[in-house]
Amino acid sequence: MDVSHILEDLNDAQRDAVAAPPGPVLVLAGAGSGKTRVLTHRVAWLVEACQISPLSILAVTFTNKAAQEMRGRIEQMLGFPVNGMWMGTFHSTAHRLLRAHWQEAGLVQSFQILDSDDQLRLIRRALKELNLDEGYWPPRQVQWYINGHKEEGRRPGDVADSADSQQRELRRAFSTYEALCQRFGLVDFAELLLRAYELLCNNEPLRDRYQDRFQHVLVDEFQDTNAIQYEWLKLLAHRHRRIFVVGDDDQSIYGWRGARVENILQFEKDFPGAMVVRLEQNYRSTGTILNAANAVIDHNRGRLGKNLWTEDDAGEPVRVYAAYNEIDEARFVIDRIQSWVDAGNRRSEVAILYRSNAQSRVFEEILLDVGMPYRVYGGLRFFERAEIKDALAYLRLLASRQDDPSFERICNVPTRGIGNKTMEQLRDHARINQVSLWDSARALMHAHELPGRAVTALTGFVRLVDGLAEEATDLDLADQVEVVLQRSGLLQHYRKEKGERGEARVENLEELVSAARNFEHDEDDELPPMAAFLSHAALESGEGQAEQWEDCVQLMSLHSAKGLEFPLVFLTGLEEGLFPHQRSMQEPGRLEEERRLCYVGMTRAMRQLYLSYAEVRRLHGRESYTAPSRFLAEIPDELMAEVRAGTTLQRTNWRVHETPAAGDGAGVSLGRHVRHSAFGDGVVLNIEGRGDHARVQVNFDEVGSKWLVLAYANLEVL
Ligand code: ATP
Ligand code: MG
Repeated sequence: MDVSHILEDLNDAQRDAVAAPPGPVLVLAGAGSGKTRVLTHRVAWLVEACQISPLSILAVTFTNKAAQEMRGRIEQMLGFPVNGMWMGTFHSTAHRLLRAHWQEAGLVQSFQILDSDDQLRLIRRALKELNLDEGYWPPRQVQWYINGHKEEGRRPGDVADSADSQQRELRRAFSTYEALCQRFGLVDFAELLLRAYELLCNNEPLRDRYQDRFQHVLVDEFQDTNAIQYEWLKLLAHRHRRIFVVGDDDQSIYGWRGARVENILQFEKDFPGAMVVRLEQNYRSTGTILNAANAVIDHNRGRLGKNLWTEDDAGEPVRVYAAYNEIDEARFVIDRIQSWVDAGNRRSEVAILYRSNAQSRVFEEILLDVGMPYRVYGGLRFFERAEIKDALAYLRLLASRQDDPSFERICNVPTRGIGNKTMEQLRDHARINQVSLWDSARALMHAHELPGRAVTALTGFVRLVDGLAEEATDLDLADQVEVVLQRSGLLQHYRKEKGERGEARVENLEELVSAARNFEHDEDDELPPMAAFLSHAALESGEGQAEQWEDCVQLMSLHSAKGLEFPLVFLTGLEEGLFPHQRSMQEPGRLEEERRLCYVGMTRAMRQLYLSYAEVRRLHGRESYTAPSRFLAEIPDELMAEVRAGTTLQRTNWRVHETPAAGDGAGVSLGRHVRHSAFGDGVVLNIEGRGDHARVQVNFDEVGSKWLVLAYANLEVL
């Protein structure tokens, strides 16, 4: 068979990796050097040149989106679908294993996945059972503690005993939380991985079967695997040792979630004789972008070290824009995107990247204002929106009445007279009798412990859910969703909410029906369609939006941008405290992770990269003066060009600040001594623009030179 098409368009090092003999392979290479491409070609190579059945291949990528893309590319190369191949994220693969072997894994068949919010709710309940005050035991910290241990593969029994009473209480909370999960058939994200690992560890026949089956295991973004994921890979690849991993230590950005970049070094020890391939040519970015990114990452220590070069031209300089506030920043960015589109390019080729999800709001507002289509990845994604979670909670409760978080979420949405007091009684009953809230509701309906009104309300709810379950059984998926939305009163409830918000919620609910209609239920799936759909919703809530394809600008956090590439990239909010993030500035390790994040962001750009920062930023309701990010100073001057305000901004008719500038800044002129409330005293070096747009450059004695908006700076002339 002619397999040359798989090796075409690859350089020598890439070919070595793709056609490597069976055995452990580590591809260690910088951004844009073709790691993902090599992985994809390797799969095609295995199937076509080595005649390996797609059923014997397991490929793990970092996001569902990446997995879909990879499948598409492989199928294109091979010319036929590879349905039976296991290809997905760690979570979806673990989930698949647990669904197939729920009994062996000690789960109930209808187990449901807990997302982070639901998990928090259950942790609150565990704290309550232990009489631990949330004031002293913040649920988020307990969540962090629990997930941290699970990511390292530890159960409460594995946590070392401690004389410290606080540690002991935390461990108790961990156990109680686990017991609740087990009782109600709930599995959180970390549990998916740990449970799937334990399943294979403890069950020899099953382990044999999968070790035998997966003759080839391939992993993208290996630098971000955590302890349990790596153990899991080792276990699966134990027999054949045919494990192919690709990664870049400079792009390890999930340390805060337990990722271990050391796994890269460990790999060569765990798989002695592993072939190591280094790719050094970057095919993605212009010379300037690459040099700028390399200069930034060069400030990190303890790197494995790589040479990355490109044949591409130097291209345009990296453009830097100093905005006077976050609105100005967003207007500037969107104005530039408009020019890009006017020049005949696509919106989908443009990404706006930010450090923190909350930054997307201002961009969204202005994008809406000018009517430019966009899509936000990350942040509040479709399946995480409140109304969607309500609807899903109904569906989950229909699937499993033992699902307490879902019960809690919707038993009084829409309002039906089940108040706090009734809930307290239900929870007490549930705790004392070790049963679910649903069972408690049924029990209390018949006991005479509740006031008549509460009994009526509970009875109504129980009948509603049972009735819905019955009504929905024979319907197809989308019709089930529709019936539930109508009969639960959810649609009605959100219709009553006034204004755009209510409308958007109703639209989202309607979108859920379309999502169900478009949901492709895999024929081989052992799950009934609804259970498959609910699992899909829980796993999807980590990314992407379930919306129709449209040519739109891509907005996402730097974390979600990993692995992707765009011709035009705006990396925004480059301010000390925001990026690098405040929390990371004290610890050198975390600062280095922020720098890697910056490297990831910059290397997403193919042709043009913009960096921007605002001198004043209002975020989370607070306004603060900020200093440009240190990462900007790490880029050599000759690679950058500063963009001046004024020229582009006047072109479009933006809603400019309504605050009148008259009076403010009166008397400020070149060379004057002025005082600023935060920066102290300084001398005016430069003045630009007029009215609302007037900006002054002041050389402050303490903090050096800054550009300020005259209208906002409140300068006192000395
Ligand atoms: P990242 O570290 O960001 O995940 P990567 O190393 O996975 O990057 P890819 O996404 O695989 O890199 O490749 C980057 C770009 O370079 C892609 O557009 C890819 O198609 C292209 N590319 C890779 N290798 C070659 C090659 N040999 N010839 C032409 N284009 C290539
Ligand atoms: Mg990649």
